[in-house]
Amino acid sequence: MTETNLYPCFLGPYGENDALLEKLMLEFLRDHVYWRRNFHPEDPPAIPTQAAQQPAFQEFEARLRRELHTLSALLKRSVPFHSPRYLGHMVSDLLIPGLAAQMLALPYNPNNVSDEAAPVTIDLEIKVGLQLARLFGFPCDPQQENCAFGHLTSGGTLANFQALRLALALKCLPVTLRTIAPPELSVSDSDYEAFNRPPHQAIELLIAWQQWLAGLSSGERIHWQQRFESERIEQLGSVRFFAQHPALSPPVVMAPVTAHYSWSKGMKLLGLGREQLILVPESGMRLDMDAFDQILRELRASKRSVLLAVAVLGTTEFGTIDPIHELVALRERYVAEGYGFTLHVDAAWGGYLATLFRKEDGQLRSFEEIRDEFTHFPNPCTYAAMAALKQVDSITVDPHKLGYLAFGTGAFVYRDHRAMELLTETADYVFTDATTPGYFNRYRKLGRYILEGSKSGAAAAAVYVTHRVLPLDHQHFGQITRQTIRSTEAFVVRAEQFTRDIAARLRVCMPYLPDTNLVCLAINPTGNRDVAVANTFIRKLHDVLGTDPSIPLQSREFFCSTTTLRTQTLGEQDMHRILTILGLDPASMQDNDPQSDRLLILRHTLMNPFHLDAENDISYIDGYFEYLSHHLDGLLPTDPPTFVN
Ligand SMILES: *Cc1c(COP(=O)(O)O)cnc(C)c1O
Repeated sequence: MTETNLYPCFLGPYGENDALLEKLMLEFLRDHVYWRRNFHPEDPPAIPTQAAQQPAFQEFEARLRRELHTLSALLKRSVPFHSPRYLGHMVSDLLIPGLAAQMLALPYNPNNVSDEAAPVTIDLEIKVGLQLARLFGFPCDPQQENCAFGHLTSGGTLANFQALRLALALKCLPVTLRTIAPPELSVSDSDYEAFNRPPHQAIELLIAWQQWLAGLSSGERIHWQQRFESERIEQLGSVRFFAQHPALSPPVVMAPVTAHYSWSKGMKLLGLGREQLILVPESGMRLDMDAFDQILRELRASKRSVLLAVAVLGTTEFGTIDPIHELVALRERYVAEGYGFTLHVDAAWGGYLATLFRKEDGQLRSFEEIRDEFTHFPNPCTYAAMAALKQVDSITVDPHKLGYLAFGTGAFVYRDHRAMELLTETADYVFTDATTPGYFNRYRKLGRYILEGSKSGAAAAAVYVTHRVLPLDHQHFGQITRQTIRSTEAFVVRAEQFTRDIAARLRVCMPYLPDTNLVCLAINPTGNRDVAVANTFIRKLHDVLGTDPSIPLQSREFFCSTTTLRTQTLGEQDMHRILTILGLDPASMQDNDPQSDRLLILRHTLMNPFHLDAENDISYIDGYFEYLSHHLDGLLPTDPPTFVN
């Protein structure tokens, strides 16, 4: 059921669109050359026209060619992400608009650290931020004073870190203002109260403080600014900051137990330490709201504060979506009781699924309208979570995942851009009305706000052009997303059939119905009751379904990835349910034995737009399950003692 509209989007599994890409590359390479020549056509060529005939030149070219051929040969061992036979990790073919725009922009080599090095692409990056803000329902008109702001990062890991850094700056701001106590600015009665202000109140304080400063004489303003800077956590470091505020202790971050390990990295980098990362239990692989509430109550009772709570939109391992709407409601309740914190959504994986929920005019589509296009998707919880995105503070999304763009493009989006000033390296954030630069002007010095310094402007151009050719709504980009969900639904139906057909040889279980386009399968040879034996079987199965650089690519039929189910993350009850379906003995799961402390399972990402090839009436999903059933015999355990009759 591939929609013909998708035909021009990708280079294609067979390289079908080679002529299109070649034409574009050649056209814009020539265009670039003309641009060079037309800069000052009166300058004669510095490299003489006969240089190419000189031996040294030819020797150089020969060496270059040899090395490029070697590289090209080596790269033939790459993972065939482009193939509909690839069901492994979160990557697939690249969108031609992004690829062409990136290659077009590369020789201009823009550096998006600042407009001085990127007069064009820096505006494109700021616009990408606005495109993504619109996708999530944030204010996206730069004329609006509370407009959102987003920028690109090297990936989701850095975007998540940016969220932590900004949340900490906002959390500590009211405490700093309370310390320096500018007259006419009433902050809070206590440090503790100030520390627990929600981020939107911190932003209001920041604005009030900036306005107050703007009314001072320049000498006084500098004096107050210096006082302010000297009391900030960014200046003092967390050790001194918390030593100076004994009523406060370092705040915690709450994330679901399956959260991506970038959160652990972030806690280390921030200096708060992993001990301050509280992993919240899940039920059905989605954040357990009762447990979340319980932990919050305990934290509050012991006067600990929360920096940021993470909800995941599309977990890396299982593709599940947390009940973001419930988290929003819970946060509101705690804010009303004076216990605020930042709410961040890690949508590195699932962010682009929001395209299915947006109309062309930016409005949210109705549940029924979306549901009509699928069998199960979206479940009501997924719909409510998507609808609630506009109420969270910040969002991470990876164009290099479900955006089908080249690696090196993550994104961070904050709901109210005015908070960004707290991240700047230099403190010249006070603008009198006359000098207040517009939205674009301000962010053209992007390097002041981001973690990176120099960064690729070509990557920003790629994301921008992609979002222009395929706007982020259900009619455009959503056509790609829709296809991946349809593939997922076909996979689920086929997996259920496989489960019935193969019962004599295998017990198969989908641990969780997927919310996105990631499907896991737990498998156990029928009759086996031992977790360690089941794991060995999956390992052997994955030996023929995983990547192995020492084996010719063509000898592989299909690719999938693996993950594990662990009692610590699932909880006893869920683990027991899954083991029972598989016929495994829960007692064979041994806590301290690396062979059996977890259950190895297969993980499938259904991202390729051609898993269901309508043109040739081929389903690579059917093909995958047929391959599985035909290649089991050599892999099944034969050792009699492991079987129970
Ligand atoms: C991939 C992923 C990340 C990390 O993103 P990178 O781009 O790999 O740095 C973070 N969170 C989630 C949920 C992810 O899927």
